[in-house]
Amino acid sequence: TTRPAVRKPEAENGGAAPGAGRPTLEVIGLRKSFGTLEVLKNVSLAVEKSEMVFVLGRSGSGKSTMLRCCNRLEEPDAGEILLEGQPITGSGVNLDKVRRRIGMVFQGFNLYPHLDARRNITLALRKVLKQSRDEADTRAAAALTRVGLADKAGNYPSQLSGGQQQRVAIARAIALEPAVMLFDEPTSALDPELVGDVLGVMRELKEDGMTMLVVSHEMAFAREAADRVVFMADGHIVEQGPPEDLFTNPQHESTRAFLSRYS
Ligand code: ADP
Ligand code: MG
Repeated sequence: TTRPAVRKPEAENGGAAPGAGRPTLEVIGLRKSFGTLEVLKNVSLAVEKSEMVFVLGRSGSGKSTMLRCCNRLEEPDAGEILLEGQPITGSGVNLDKVRRRIGMVFQGFNLYPHLDARRNITLALRKVLKQSRDEADTRAAAALTRVGLADKAGNYPSQLSGGQQQRVAIARAIALEPAVMLFDEPTSALDPELVGDVLGVMRELKEDGMTMLVVSHEMAFAREAADRVVFMADGHIVEQGPPEDLFTNPQHESTRAFLSRYS
């Protein structure tokens, strides 16, 4: 289903708060090229509140570029992105504010090696949210508890497994209380036995109502946990639907080819 690109005037919205009734994240007609390479040709996607949407597609299909446009690490060439009904593309947008509301977790954990787990989390809280040390410490402890690492607050990244480092990275993102979390292949760099812990944390976030857009090749997890799966090929979303439909009855040739390679 495609949604109208126009925002409802406030009156039509019953005077509700801005963004009420809109999806949490909306990508409309997104285009992005690198030189002559057209990576995103016309991508539209909506993620509803508390929804977990998985994005699949072969390497080079533009998945990371789409996520990076969503928190403005890449500048879209055309199209609009709305967060809770508010445009986050175009000029005049406060990028710090956008990145505070959109948490991102990458394949590499991107922790500061010279800071322990607690300080990796409190740094952003103090700098971005201007929290006091006490406030930040309290919130960091809560975030570490949520990812099952309450006892690792004093460990440096080098004293944590890859899976634990990734869980600290997730804790750092959720501590900012984002409206949506973007995950770009969060388990691809992990030893197989550590993947389950990270997926378990993602499942718990979903159960707590977090809105999530996830790029990952963890098919079994997508099948079981995703509300919707989106398949990208050749700069477009070629099909999407509930995981069961998409995995058992793919309509598009490129989806079939992809799934036969991965399952
Ligand atoms: P995916 O995440 O699906 O593997 P990406 O979004 O990373 O795909 O990349 C899509 C295409 O865009 C690839 O061909 C990649 O080489 C190219 N690309 C990505 N980022 C850049 C960049 N900064 N400069 C030039 N080409 C890029
Ligand atoms: Mg990628």
